[in-house]
Amino acid sequence: MNPTAAQTELPIPGTVYIETYGCQMNQVDSEIVLSLLEEYGYRRAEEPDRAEIVLVNTCAVREHAEVKAISNIGRFSKLKQPGRGMKIGVLGCLSQHAAGELKQQLPFLDWILGPDVYRTLPNLLAQEGECETRILTDAPNDELYDEVLPSRREGINAWITISRGCNNHCAYCVVPKARGRERHRPAESILHEAHEAVQQGFVQLTLLGQNVNSYRHDDIKFPELLAQVAEVPGLKRLRYMTSHPKDCSEELLRTMAEHKTICPELHLPFQAGSDSVLKKMGRRYTAKHYRHLVEMARDIVPNLLLSTDIIVGFPGETHADYLETERLVKDVQYDDAFVYRYSVRPGTRAALNFEDDVPIEVKTERLMRINEIVRESGKVNRLALLGQQAVVLVEGPSPKDPRESLGRTFPGHMVVVPGEFAPGTLVPVDLTEMRGYTLRSEVERSWARRQRA
Ligand code: SAH
Ligand code: SF4
Repeated sequence: MNPTAAQTELPIPGTVYIETYGCQMNQVDSEIVLSLLEEYGYRRAEEPDRAEIVLVNTCAVREHAEVKAISNIGRFSKLKQPGRGMKIGVLGCLSQHAAGELKQQLPFLDWILGPDVYRTLPNLLAQEGECETRILTDAPNDELYDEVLPSRREGINAWITISRGCNNHCAYCVVPKARGRERHRPAESILHEAHEAVQQGFVQLTLLGQNVNSYRHDDIKFPELLAQVAEVPGLKRLRYMTSHPKDCSEELLRTMAEHKTICPELHLPFQAGSDSVLKKMGRRYTAKHYRHLVEMARDIVPNLLLSTDIIVGFPGETHADYLETERLVKDVQYDDAFVYRYSVRPGTRAALNFEDDVPIEVKTERLMRINEIVRESGKVNRLALLGQQAVVLVEGPSPKDPRESLGRTFPGHMVVVPGEFAPGTLVPVDLTEMRGYTLRSEVERSWARRQRA
């Protein structure tokens, strides 16, 4: 999707191209923005070249994400020839976090908008003429976009935001600054959206929040909300993320085990294995507590798929500290992990108080080593599934061979299924083989026979 030189053609009025970086919450925010604009008659453009409006929804969680977003926005400058009449706006965490720098580095921008001001967009778009970059980042910290039904693309999964912002103060993290205090949507509107999404044909829902465990609206807490959504008629699978270890409760794990639509999948970021690093990070749990949680989760929720986030090279992380992370990763035997090198985020507690003193080569070495260990445990865990039966929810054709389909087991392992199945089909399979990191399968014979009959 590279804007080509053919910008002699004028933009098509009323079209919006939106590009999204970062987490799933940004994905939903882009769908919310589209929904707000569609109400005013705008429609989605698949390519930027002839769109009247180009919007880029950015992420600021690590420096790398920021640099990438800025360079990608830079490539749209070609579209902004004088008199051509197209407009470009930057949305999301980077706008909120670094509006001044954005304006300086990308002077051709029309708007820089923080995550809580998207309702102003239709109004801004209606303003004629070319003017200086407008920065809108101040908003009362209460926006939930509660009644806006996101404009979703076809697919099997609908993401549903249950809370916005974050009340934790992890020393390294820019999210609380970029997205503000945590606020929760009323359960009724989450349930309404869940019903709507299932009626529209989404068979899987994923509830989203920076820390879903702290969800509370009136007297409803997260386990109860999850249980209510799990009962939406027609729903096949329900997932959620992210759980903070300090708040992940036995009640939540029991709720997962009790409902046949809730997938046995837990993303439980631990960040570091050393208690002194965890303390400096402000995570408010110890490695021992984390290990206990993992044990309890595996006891209560059968066939649990467990994943995590890890930061290596946090300021002051010694080799001995790092080895604690390595030990925890080896002991837990994760299915998957996202490992990051610590990245200084201006304005965060860590940036203000600690020197970024672990050399980049050491960070990289630690990252590679952890990735290697997780890859090994992920492989061992998957190999243990061979010979077992599973039900795969098909997501689409396999990119490698369109005669095969790609989908996920109930816990969430990616599986190749021979044959062309419509997205959303539940196919019972025997797990037969591992190629690289992907499981392969054979369709259960009696099911296949019944389908043909
Ligand atoms: N709310 C979620 C995570 C949001 S950010 C949670 O608490 O789990 C996603 C991940 O990015 C974090 O879990 C962390 O591992 C990583 N991350 C956040 N800030 C970072 C930074 N400054 N440097 C490196 N990784 C970071
Ligand atoms: Fe950031 Fe911590 Fe909040 Fe997650 S819980 S968004 S890491 S501050």
